[in-house]
Amino acid sequence: MPAVALISQSALTHNLSIVKNKSSAKIIAMVKANAYGHHLNLITPLIENADLLAVSELSEVQKLRQLTDQPILLLSGIYTSEELQQAIDLKCQIVIHHPAQIVLINHNTQALGIWLKIDTGMHRLGLSHDEYRQCLPDFESNALITIKGVMSHFACADELNHPMNLLQLKTFKQLTDNNNNRSMANSAAILSNPAAHFDFIRPGIMLYGASPFADNDHDLQPVMQLSAPVTAIKTIQAGATVGYGSTWVADQPTTIAIIGIGYGDGYPRHAKNGTPVLINDILCPLVGRVSMDMIAIDVSHITVSIGDTAILWGHKKLRVETVAQYSDTLSYELLTGISGRVSVVRGT
Ligand SMILES: *Cc1c(COP(=O)(O)O)cnc(C)c1O
Repeated sequence: MPAVALISQSALTHNLSIVKNKSSAKIIAMVKANAYGHHLNLITPLIENADLLAVSELSEVQKLRQLTDQPILLLSGIYTSEELQQAIDLKCQIVIHHPAQIVLINHNTQALGIWLKIDTGMHRLGLSHDEYRQCLPDFESNALITIKGVMSHFACADELNHPMNLLQLKTFKQLTDNNNNRSMANSAAILSNPAAHFDFIRPGIMLYGASPFADNDHDLQPVMQLSAPVTAIKTIQAGATVGYGSTWVADQPTTIAIIGIGYGDGYPRHAKNGTPVLINDILCPLVGRVSMDMIAIDVSHITVSIGDTAILWGHKKLRVETVAQYSDTLSYELLTGISGRVSVVRGT
């Protein structure tokens, strides 16, 4: 029996309503990386209700275009004239973040909607201030090109008091004005910084029900519930060890349940001893190292049978943020890391 990731449609709708409660700006739903691992074909409420859908690569635009006629934004843009033509054929708006792309689209002969991305301090993607100022007049006088908006991205939005936030906001405001359609806020900024909302907000992780803030879940509901069956149960004596490396030692007689999920499914290999797993509505600790196909759980204090379901994350008692903390990673990595072996299915 494979591990199952159930994608809750009602949680998607609920999280979208949280976004709308926070801001009246238009919504660019971030659905890159196969909708953060939730599968593009299973996130219908987002596809139907967002103002714009954003993905990272042209291959993702192709998949998304098969599902919807909604406007699509290509974040990393295009790098060759062939890619530009494909983007135009797929009717997507493209982000221009690099001078080489400016050259490409200035040779363009078809109508095209673009977003200009400005680097305000993250130094990943984005035009420098001079590049931005220089390309504007050309684009504005080009009848084929419509500038749909200008955007920038925060480096530290999830650290509320980080000085970069104010600095980037100030720079962005200096370069743009009310005549522009402006977009700056990711989930963390949507939840914490109304001054950064502008005209379009760009929620990602919060749509999928994970909060960027460890101390506040903002009433977001987990969308992906990951579960796997109990496949074996055994009792071991004090002094016995569990798993590869024999790193976990029982200090008393212990009942162990083996669950059919491991790092080959995307469960984090670095999950520490004590990482909670929800079995029959009770949190039980992981013991020993995570294997490719299974994990071991101390179930001494609960009643459990082979075939019972263990929930790995995506429950109000066990959020993916918690598992991420126990694994020294982020909810983003866990959600996008579900492997092809997991069967991802539509829930209610
Ligand atoms: C992924 C992404 C977002 C969304 O970020 P979250 O932290 O998931 O809300 C916003 N803007 C850009 C440019 C992105 O690449």
